[in-house]
Amino acid sequence: MERNMTQHYRALIGGEWQQGRRGSFAVDDPATAQVVAMVADVDVSQVDLAIEAADRAFDRWRRLSAQERCDLVLLWHNRLQENRQRLAELITLESGKPMAESLGEVEYGASYLKWYAQQGVRANGQTLPALPGGRRPMTVKQPVGVVGVITPWNFPLAMIARKVAPALAAGCAVVIKPAAETPLTALLMAELAQEAGIPDGVINLVPGSDAAVIGHRLCTHPKVRKLSFTGSTSVGRLLMAQSAERVQKLSLELGGNAPFLVFDDANLEGAVSGLMASKFRNSGQTCVCANRILVQRGIYDDVIARLKARMAALTLGPGALPGTDLGPLISDRALTRVEALVRDAVASGARLTMGGSRSPKGERFYLPTLLESVTEDNPIWTQEIFGPVVAVTQFDTEEEGVRLANSSEAGLASYLYSDNLPRAVRVAEALEYGMVGINEGIISSAVAPFGGIKSSGLGREGGQEGLEEYLETKYLCLGGI
Ligand code: NAD
Repeated sequence: MERNMTQHYRALIGGEWQQGRRGSFAVDDPATAQVVAMVADVDVSQVDLAIEAADRAFDRWRRLSAQERCDLVLLWHNRLQENRQRLAELITLESGKPMAESLGEVEYGASYLKWYAQQGVRANGQTLPALPGGRRPMTVKQPVGVVGVITPWNFPLAMIARKVAPALAAGCAVVIKPAAETPLTALLMAELAQEAGIPDGVINLVPGSDAAVIGHRLCTHPKVRKLSFTGSTSVGRLLMAQSAERVQKLSLELGGNAPFLVFDDANLEGAVSGLMASKFRNSGQTCVCANRILVQRGIYDDVIARLKARMAALTLGPGALPGTDLGPLISDRALTRVEALVRDAVASGARLTMGGSRSPKGERFYLPTLLESVTEDNPIWTQEIFGPVVAVTQFDTEEEGVRLANSSEAGLASYLYSDNLPRAVRVAEALEYGMVGINEGIISSAVAPFGGIKSSGLGREGGQEGLEEYLETKYLCLGGI
């Protein structure tokens, strides 16, 4: 990552650090709203150069043995680990999250590099039973090709690692467009990949302020064979429509609206701890955040009392300050959006019983907020809150709880707390979500397939499924035997 004294960062195209042909764009620290860096703003001709470079590199990269590729991915993992403090500081600087969470993100992101460095050597095809007429069928696994990668700001390192580690292990080359809010961590990751010996052009990084133009090119350029996107459902829909033209392969990790069910037979302290971890991580700005909290009537008052005590104990502040639990929201726009959501929820009958306003800590800080009596017809029910706001409702029967939990277009994560095993299994099977946390609020791991159903997207990241996303299965039929 080349930068001069005024903290100008460049794009990485074919192994060269380049200025942006559209100039540069500013990155700010969400805790202070101060500009902390200027980053190369690429134009569409540079996206084309990056795609061409990736295509050339792909031709060589795919010819390495899987073991040679995986050895390099492991070296990249090691460079990440050696630079974990630097990476975490950048994550906190540009995303605002507390340092403890940033260090956790580096660890979590690096775990994908390590896991796929081990799993990439197992991209096995199959020999199938013989066919009549002297024919022998078999399959081979081949890399998809050049992959476009578009990532959000809420996990600047991990969202790239989850896509690029399996892509590289499979033999693909990538062109990454990081979120404009958080390109600095991505740039350091790319620099560390260079240091690890990943060949020029295998990883290209095209930061830019005109996401629509870059995204369109990554969907329509004939040399890009797949797009892997994590972000909002609305942008995901647009990319899906654009990709239809060339029937380009797609992985989409989109928005969630996670239900969090607490049954009267749950360990309540465990349930509230799980809820706090799920809800307040990254100030509520994660796609798997508990979004609609459904509590069975008999334990409702007890759960609310415990929750309020835990929420009152949260420390708001800049992520870099030791002891901070909750950092700022990412932008002024994010803050005004959360304010409007809470205002509309209250106007539609929700009871505000804690918080509900900005914090004096700074421009983008919002107080931990509790909304009760949030009914199905409340507008906040259908929204991904993306802020430190807990929206709670009550239910009576298991059947009603499941029905309410499933009343959403989204189908990413869901959670249930119950110490009754048959009930936990029944409810987990009935939840229409790609992932279910059972007595657990933090579920994501490199070994497991992460992803959603319904409007939450297509495909999985993590596990063997995550590798398959970057592989084509080719069928060979050997005749005349
Ligand atoms: P976003 O969709 O606005 O942006 C995501 C990325 O898409 C960014 O890089 C952005 O620059 C780019 N982008 C924006 N408009 C584009 C366009 N027209 N064409 C191409 N690219 C475009 O989302 P966000 O606000 O950065 O992130 C928050 C959203 O991401 C939430 O909805 C959250 O649930 C979702 N998310 C999902 C997962 C998951 O795994 N399912 C993980 C993290 C975040």
